[in-house]
Amino acid sequence: MNKHYYITTPIYYINDVPHIGHAYTTIAADVMARYKRMCGYDVFFLTGTDEHGQKVEKAAEQQGIHPKEHADTMVHRFTDLWKVLNISNDGFIRTTEERHRKVVQYIFQKVYESGDIYLGEYEDWYCVPCETYFTEMQLVEGKCPDCLRKPEKLKEESFFFRLSKYTERLLGLLKEHKDFVMPDIRYNEVASFVKGGLRDLSVSRTSFNWGIPVPMKTHHIIYVWFDALANYLTGIGFLDNVDMFKTFWPCDAHLIGKDILRFHAVYWPGFLMSLEIEPPKHIFAHGWWTIEGQKMSKSLGNVIDPNEIVKAYGVDEFRFFLFREVPFGMDGDFSKNAIIHRINGDLANDFGNLTSRSVAMIGKFLNGKIERPEKKGGMDEYVEENVKRLVEEYQKEMEIFSYHKALHNVFEIISILNKYIDTEAPWRLSKEGDVRIKTVLYNIWNSLRIVAMLLYPFMPQKSEAIWHALGIGKPIDKVLFDNEKVFYFMDDISYIDKIKPVFPRIEE
Ligand SMILES: [Zn+2]
Repeated sequence: MNKHYYITTPIYYINDVPHIGHAYTTIAADVMARYKRMCGYDVFFLTGTDEHGQKVEKAAEQQGIHPKEHADTMVHRFTDLWKVLNISNDGFIRTTEERHRKVVQYIFQKVYESGDIYLGEYEDWYCVPCETYFTEMQLVEGKCPDCLRKPEKLKEESFFFRLSKYTERLLGLLKEHKDFVMPDIRYNEVASFVKGGLRDLSVSRTSFNWGIPVPMKTHHIIYVWFDALANYLTGIGFLDNVDMFKTFWPCDAHLIGKDILRFHAVYWPGFLMSLEIEPPKHIFAHGWWTIEGQKMSKSLGNVIDPNEIVKAYGVDEFRFFLFREVPFGMDGDFSKNAIIHRINGDLANDFGNLTSRSVAMIGKFLNGKIERPEKKGGMDEYVEENVKRLVEEYQKEMEIFSYHKALHNVFEIISILNKYIDTEAPWRLSKEGDVRIKTVLYNIWNSLRIVAMLLYPFMPQKSEAIWHALGIGKPIDKVLFDNEKVFYFMDDISYIDKIKPVFPRIEE
């Protein structure tokens, strides 16, 4: 029996210019997907684009083209960026695809037939850019609480979803699964929202045309969130590949930004309960990035294109920085100084130097050939035990998306190794003709091999480079991560000589 793992990012709004926030969620999902694959899971990693709604219709209209044509030209900005960021997604879904229209209309019909969707009339404050209705109470000084623009009072015939009916069941789900929403701060937010009571949700619009029509009343367009959330079903073959759907559902983790928490943690399980489909296992909502201490905004002109960051600092350095710098889940600040500091400190000085020193010593003292240890002494046991312990801790942290702490454990190994080299001084052992040099260099080599594996989900290319420099022929992502074998001897080592600096220093 294969182990399966299904992870998603939100589908990104096609009108958006991809920024650090999009990159962050997608890299975070990529880290977990790569980690799970190393642990032997059959992984499905889904991302995509949300291509319906009034804003897309308007943007296309302004250019005199069809909304689909508009989406077709915009989608590449995302797919191209995912290539640049080395994203290993298994699926990509666009909500304009035929397979998705079928799923959305099917589930709308099904919920309607069950009596959970009814026709009514809706009137409230509507923010066009956010495509969201707000109550008088929710407005901030008469403006949209999300974008601070002025909403319009709108009244329309609308289908409603009986979300109120699911209040108790949602509370039960939250009570039973304390990790349904992660981290805790977001769990508490959702729990108190649901406790406040849920109102029925308007799930159709008549004010625009660009979307999926309601099957039984086609001048109604299905609410963009009802449409968008269903992508998680479509993407793994809900209607067209039932075996695959059964294999991967319920989803292991929906990764999202904290701004779309309510849609995922309240509306989505509500829809699924009505459909009698199991809710996802976890929803993880992360924080936001500021740029050089300031909120990112178009008007400030400080929105950074992730392509530019990669050009300046390198893709793996960028991926590493995002999760080394800030606990995943919290808000963080991106600054030039901070990323340079991480690259020069953690990567060039601590890890890079360790690697080149070690490879050079293996070349010089053992003629590039790692051999089985014969004699133990000094810090040998200490290193072995601590590496094993830190690998276990790394795994525990990875399981709960605690990337920051996982990386902290890796850097503890690196610091132990630096101390080990200074204490055991392989150059002295070599001079004295002590056979323990084989043990010491074996331990260093083995620990570096492990460090490369632990860093692989974060820095796939650099880790692979180090892996090869250590003389291992087998591709790094084909080696299953097995804690029992932390200190085992790999037989397919070729000659180890020297290595070009993997992390060149960046001039400040
Ligand atoms: Zn708004």
